[in-house]
Amino acid sequence: MIDGHIHADTRPYEDFEKMAISGINAAISCAHDPLKMSTSAVIFDHFDRLVNNDRERAAKNGLTLYFALGIHPRSISSDFEKVLHKLPKILKNERVVAIGEIGLETTSPKEIDVFIQQLRIADDLKAKVIVHTPRTNKKEVTEITKNILLENIEPKRVLIDHVDFTIVDSLIDEQFTLGLTVQPLKMSPKDAFILLNDYGLEKFVLNSDMSSSPSDPLSVPKTVHELRMNGFDEKDIQLVSETNAAKFFNIS
Ligand SMILES: [Zn+2]
Repeated sequence: MIDGHIHADTRPYEDFEKMAISGINAAISCAHDPLKMSTSAVIFDHFDRLVNNDRERAAKNGLTLYFALGIHPRSISSDFEKVLHKLPKILKNERVVAIGEIGLETTSPKEIDVFIQQLRIADDLKAKVIVHTPRTNKKEVTEITKNILLENIEPKRVLIDHVDFTIVDSLIDEQFTLGLTVQPLKMSPKDAFILLNDYGLEKFVLNSDMSSSPSDPLSVPKTVHELRMNGFDEKDIQLVSETNAAKFFNIS
């Protein structure tokens, strides 16, 4: 199994062991806002911790980490241009499989500017992106996010994350890959089953988005179990729990 979206830097060593024991062999750890990201130096230190320390902490437990690095909408530093400038070089690391997580939180002009600039970099480099959708004003912000995406990047290179019942109808007919975050305050394994049963499994990637908020490192295996108990066949389960993510991120 692959967990398509985690924040490894916020989690204890033991979580990686639990994940590996339950059959997760890889995860994508995304850049976010673990500190007040006041300067680019803090953002670069955050990236460095992920690709070195956290990669090693996970590897020691048998879990392979890949990374999505970029400027999260809640971590736009005053000198964010320095980060944009270095992104092409950062993406050359073979474990960095996407720019992310990026997107909009409040839709301020600055957020929109930083988001579009990152999409253009991704489009130029033919890189993938992981796009966040917020908890607050989710539907409205997702509409704006979707329109910006359609204008600035090939949809096949986009994974829109934290998709739920409120936004799935607006996204399902586009060519995006869709992330389903199974998390205590967002969506239960049962909710994920209901959504996948209604919308099919072809476009979805399961993830825990485990962070310092309430989360469960076993979200993906628990959802797999729920799908199995509800009679989904193993081939379909394989799609949402591994193959779709492996194909999108080009990892084996
Ligand atoms: Zn996240």
